[in-house]
Amino acid sequence: MSSIRIEGLTRRFGDVTAVDGVSLDVADGEFLVLLGPSGCGKSTLLRMIAGLTPPTGGRILLDDRDITAAAPRERDLAMVFQSYALYPHLTVARNIGFPLRARRRPDVHAKVAEVAAVLGLEELLDRRPRALSGGQRQRVALGRALVRDPGAFLLDEPLSNLDATLRTATRAELTDLHRRLRSTFVYVTHDQVEAMTMATRIAVLNGGRLEQVGTPQEVYDAPASTFVAGFIGAPAIGLLPAELRSVDGSLRAVGAGVDLPLGGGEGGRDVLVGVRPEHLRIGSGDAELRGTVRLVENLGGEEVAHIEVGSGRVALRGPRPLRLAAGDAVSLTCDPDRIHLFSATSGRRLVRAPEPARSAVAV
Ligand code: ATP
Repeated sequence: MSSIRIEGLTRRFGDVTAVDGVSLDVADGEFLVLLGPSGCGKSTLLRMIAGLTPPTGGRILLDDRDITAAAPRERDLAMVFQSYALYPHLTVARNIGFPLRARRRPDVHAKVAEVAAVLGLEELLDRRPRALSGGQRQRVALGRALVRDPGAFLLDEPLSNLDATLRTATRAELTDLHRRLRSTFVYVTHDQVEAMTMATRIAVLNGGRLEQVGTPQEVYDAPASTFVAGFIGAPAIGLLPAELRSVDGSLRAVGAGVDLPLGGGEGGRDVLVGVRPEHLRIGSGDAELRGTVRLVENLGGEEVAHIEVGSGRVALRGPRPLRLAAGDAVSLTCDPDRIHLFSATSGRRLVRAPEPARSAVAV
């Protein structure tokens, strides 16, 4: 198994900088998810690691070996595509064994049988891809990667062609497979639920740049920017404009419908504040938001109310029934520790004393 180091990796297509100076370490055995919206450069980054797209700058190291200019087959990496890319005229067994036959390996039958057992494909080995469901095809594509015993697996949105139920089931299978193989996975998706549930660490990309790298919990609990805050969580953190003011010696964020305590620090700065939907409660307190309910969504066990506060919006999530209706005026409160604070100019997270100011800007 292998570790991957990416140093200042860049790829331009004419005027478009698809990947812009990304540096990232993927540890041996890690399940790293590259997460971001369409066009953020995640596929280009993965294809550069695979050797399918040459970088215009930077380096890629596999276990400290510089592979930046190496051909794909010299990289000891296996890629799984969204489209599966199976050979339609070959059986499942032959599809899985293809990479070994291409390398003239003698132990093809034994290896195919082993991989089929790992993926539960034993009964399907004689079928052609057209006689398989989407989920089964996806497993065959995975089998073809697995059979090579690569140093790392590169997966590009492998679940996006599956329906919602199958996607959830296959997500759990992939997590289980990763645990059993203890192999290195780099996994591209725009689906934050996939990232949260499967990743050991998430790398969030925006416009070709890395916004934040951290465990799912770190990225959720302390989003490094308004972009990450708005991308992770369903619904995500709603952001409200406010100004930092020193009131009776303590710092508060004050704006239209917003009055939140922040502890120590200096005032006079424009910020964006937000609270996750599950951390807001109906009621009044030292931390208070006031607004108007615009929409209430029923999720079955829970409800989500979308509430207009000043020029922004927040969401409140809680057990059914919330007893709110569109048009209601409502006061919301929260634990002050749950307030997220960002610079209105840079969008970067502002850390309040006494928290350690790591990648964030101190107030
Ligand atoms: P998606 O989720 O939609 O696949 P992505 O995050 O994987 O998006 P990329 O496919 O890496 O994004 O594309 C990043 C940017 O680079 C986009 O603006 C895209 O249009 C551009 N791009 C990618 N490949 C090429 C190419 N071969 N030629 C020109 N532009 C490209």
